[in-house]
Amino acid sequence: MTRVMLMRIDVITLFPEMFEGPFNSSILKRAREQGKVQINIINLRDYSQDKHKQVDDYSYGGGKGMVIKPEPVFRAVEAVVKERSKAGVVLLCPQGQLFDQDKAKKMAEINHLVLICGHYEAIDERVKENLIDEQISIGDYVLTGGEIPAMVVTDSVVRLLPGVLSSPESVEEESFYQGLLEHPHYTRPEDFRGLKVPEILLSGDHEKIRLWRRQQSLARTLNKRPDLLSRTSLNKEDRKIIQELLPDEKQ
Ligand code: SAM
Repeated sequence: MTRVMLMRIDVITLFPEMFEGPFNSSILKRAREQGKVQINIINLRDYSQDKHKQVDDYSYGGGKGMVIKPEPVFRAVEAVVKERSKAGVVLLCPQGQLFDQDKAKKMAEINHLVLICGHYEAIDERVKENLIDEQISIGDYVLTGGEIPAMVVTDSVVRLLPGVLSSPESVEEESFYQGLLEHPHYTRPEDFRGLKVPEILLSGDHEKIRLWRRQQSLARTLNKRPDLLSRTSLNKEDRKIIQELLPDEKQ
């Protein structure tokens, strides 16, 4: 990945306090402190021109839920985005494109990401049609707000930025990066209450360990997420392993 500029992520939310723990802990905290990413949490209410700082109103046509008004959202985005062509403006929305590792990789190449967190029943449709570049969903379920999805997206994107993880090659072995689920891991002790670490991992034979891990990774993917295999580029060795894993059709 080529990155020449520091990545900037602006999160527009009605609940800035929700981000305090997740964005000030662990890898995200270190990435911010080391200047690998700049993350700004923007309170949508600050962009309301209403004297009570209200950002929502009733739905035209009726219905119980409240709808976030277009005006504060447009004003907030306009305040943080100076050059529209250089920013990716994303609305977290259960109706959006499903987020996955490929999407995280693509987003990690954008220099300026703006994440808009919806809340209440809906966000005015004119935001979706005229302000944002895309809608992202983190899964087929409905959450109270876009804050947790924004955290999910930010975490998965930031850990892909150069220099954020101490061993970047581990990212490439992780689940989904190459379209497969990751192999199992073990640590000390070798024998925990009679539960032993597979001997091959203690053998010191790097080639055998590599092959075992690849077999495990392919077997897990085949068992748990066979859908991933059709989207993964498999080499000759992988295809042979899969052939051996599949039940013999003649029997
Ligand atoms: N009434 C909306 C619908 O049926 O599509 C759901 C609104 S939801 C209660 C409020 C906000 O939470 C949404 O505007 C969105 O920002 C966020 N949200 C909820 N579920 C989400 C998901 N699976 N992925 C991304 N954002 C989600």
